[in-house]
Amino acid sequence: MLTLENAPIGTKALAIGGGHWVRTERGWKWCTGATFPRPGGDWNGELIKPVNFQPKGSQCTACKHRNGPCSHLPFHKMPVCNTLPDGTKVVICREFERRNVK
Ligand code: SF4
Repeated sequence: MLTLENAPIGTKALAIGGGHWVRTERGWKWCTGATFPRPGGDWNGELIKPVNFQPKGSQCTACKHRNGPCSHLPFHKMPVCNTLPDGTKVVICREFERRNVK
C-alpha cells in the first residue's frame, strides 16, 4: 500500500481545495512553493503514484541506438501504445532508427 513514508519520488498528494504536493528527495513540495516534511493539513488523504514510461522493447531491439543511453529521452511526450498492469506506459519511441542488419 502506498503511504507517505514509502511514496516514490514524483508521487502526488492532492489538496482538498485543489493543488498538490509532490514527493521529492527532500520532502513534499507544494506545486507552487516550498518543500515541507509532510503534506499540509488540507491533504485529502489521496496519493497518486508517478507514471513511468518505457519505450517499446521490440523497437529497441531493432534500433541502432540500442546500446546507447536513452534515459534522457522525453518518453512522457511520446505516443502510448500499451499500459502494463503496474501502470507503466509503453510508448512508441520517436528517436527510433532502424539498425543495419548484415
Ligand atoms: S532511441 Fe528509442 S527505440 Fe532506439 S534504443 Fe533508444 S529508446 Fe529504444
